[in-house]
Amino acid sequence: MLRPLLVSLRQLILPAHCAACGRALNGDGRMPLCAACGRALAALLERPHCPLCGRNAGPYASGPDGCLFCRNYPVRFDAAVRVGPYEEPLRGLILRFKGQGRADLAPFLGRLLAERVALAPWADRVEVVVPVPLHWTRRARRGFNQSDLLAREVRLAGARQAARGRLRRTRPTPHQMLLPSARRHSNVRGAFRPGWFAAGVKGRGVLLVDDVMTSGTTIAECERAVRQAGAAEVYVAVLATADYDDPGPW
Ligand SMILES: [Zn+2]
Ligand SMILES: [Zn+2]
Repeated sequence: MLRPLLVSLRQLILPAHCAACGRALNGDGRMPLCAACGRALAALLERPHCPLCGRNAGPYASGPDGCLFCRNYPVRFDAAVRVGPYEEPLRGLILRFKGQGRADLAPFLGRLLAERVALAPWADRVEVVVPVPLHWTRRARRGFNQSDLLAREVRLAGARQAARGRLRRTRPTPHQMLLPSARRHSNVRGAFRPGWFAAGVKGRGVLLVDDVMTSGTTIAECERAVRQAGAAEVYVAVLATADYDDPGPW
């Protein structure tokens, strides 16, 4: 009697299809990816990123003072990590996670991010983890804020001593990816305010968490907001960094 119930529960709980490419899964279900996507993801994880801005480490990269990109367009945060470039299968995972409301992928993606944070030389300095906020109208449509879920996983998986921080998005802003680069900065300028935690970041090391960093303007505005609230150091952790057609200035 019990067995059919367990089997059906298993089917309910475990993903039956690869969360990146959609092919049927025949593994033990502990990983939401097929073998091919698992291998491709492992290869993406090997791709080096600049320890300062988190972007692809190019041929001239990259020492502690950054890569060619961030030497031309200096970032204001102190350092960044990413899981990989915004390419398959990471891209498919992120699109299903936020575009199709697959909140069940948060533990898997969040743990990948937490591993990156744990390996960073600044990991011990993170005292507050702050997800990049969605405006409540978009959050209501999606049902969750993907950065919230990622930030929670990062705290659970490693940065347990870190407090939870919050920013508020004061107005809905069009997706940065849909805008020409010249409009991206004015789109988010002043769109973030510290939430109830404002006193909590004063003099502390803050980690900003988001899913994808494109031009970097959203992260830059969040950085400005937590610095204004007194943050001593600001670090960034994103699942992916996307290519940019025109890099800056931010
Ligand atoms: Zn797959
Ligand atoms: Zn860089």
